[in-house]
Amino acid sequence: MDKTIYRVAIVGYGGMGSYHAHLIEPVDQIEVTGAYDVVPYRMELAAAAGFKSYESLDAVLADVSVDVVLVATPNDVHKEIAIKALQAGKHVICEKPVTIHSADLLEIVEAAKQAGKIFTVHQNRRWDEDFLIVKHIAETKQIGEVFRIESRVQGANGIPGDWRQLKAYGGGMLLDWGVHLLDQLLLLTDSKIDSVAAEFSTILGTEVDDGFTAHIRFRDELIAVIEVGTTNYVTLPRWYVKGTEGTVVIRDWELNGEVVRSNPDVARVEPKPIQAGQGLTKTMAPPSEESTLRFPVEKAPAPAQTFYQNFVATLNGHSSQIVKNEEVYRVLRLIETLFEAGEKREVLKDLDL
Ligand code: NAD
Repeated sequence: MDKTIYRVAIVGYGGMGSYHAHLIEPVDQIEVTGAYDVVPYRMELAAAAGFKSYESLDAVLADVSVDVVLVATPNDVHKEIAIKALQAGKHVICEKPVTIHSADLLEIVEAAKQAGKIFTVHQNRRWDEDFLIVKHIAETKQIGEVFRIESRVQGANGIPGDWRQLKAYGGGMLLDWGVHLLDQLLLLTDSKIDSVAAEFSTILGTEVDDGFTAHIRFRDELIAVIEVGTTNYVTLPRWYVKGTEGTVVIRDWELNGEVVRSNPDVARVEPKPIQAGQGLTKTMAPPSEESTLRFPVEKAPAPAQTFYQNFVATLNGHSSQIVKNEEVYRVLRLIETLFEAGEKREVLKDLDL
């Protein structure tokens, strides 16, 4: 049994930095010992939580007792801090979006390679229960072959905070929430992407997008619609997924939803025409009760490791990074392609992505 304790210093002790302290607390062999933030008040909060306060990033990096630097600053300074920390011999965990441009991630990965240290990105929404349920349903073919995925998050509160509204800080919803939804999407298929189109919303008048809709077509014909909104007083379901044998809807994070699929034991029963508005329709009638199965969405099997358990196991040499840097790079390349498609108002085709 490995008894090493990995000591973490948090750089950027804001909303997410302080949240990481709670995530790390229950995990064996890793503990938060210190923090550094450019704002004195945030340092007071770190000290009140029992962490050592550092007066500068250099002071964090000079402390030989620190094994891991956790970067939870605004997005524009992730790269600079991560590379400095790796060059100082620290392992690095970085918040998402890892960088604003994909080329910057390659520089960080090279620095990690040179230093022989682990660099990993906190793509925590890979452990979201709604996503794990959809992944399990798709993998176990409960609705046949999945051919359409609609994944949305929508709020009515605009873009929160200050730096999230500014381009120079890597603000905007594609980089903020989009990075999570695209990361999840790319784990739902092995196929490469064939074409994309995107529309961006700037209805709130900010210099960055307050929401977007991305249309992504994969080479195996899977189609995905990924949407983030901050101006939605009524929301669409979190997930709407169609397969050759059925449909899944997950309406919200409370996991309200259902799976509706054809009953393999009953021959298809012709639907009866229904009155619809001022006409009759059989095409749009609901599927017949007899030939359809309905059940609530069920909990998916729990993943073997949490993000931090995997990080510790990787440091101990017992596992490999769950969040692979190549996967994170692909998501950033997709984000850049979506920005390009939105700016040009074109469908970008024949992609190698
Ligand atoms: P925040 O504004 O609440 O906190 C950022 C902190 O960084 C602030 O306290 C600020 O003073 C500090 N800071 C700024 N520049 C710094 C520097 N050069 N050195 C040290 N400290 C510096 O923002 P947040 O919501 O905590 O977001 C931080 C990061 O976490 C972002 O990259 C964001 O995208 C990410 N985030 C991830 C999730 C998730 O679910 N994975 C959720 C929220 C935020």
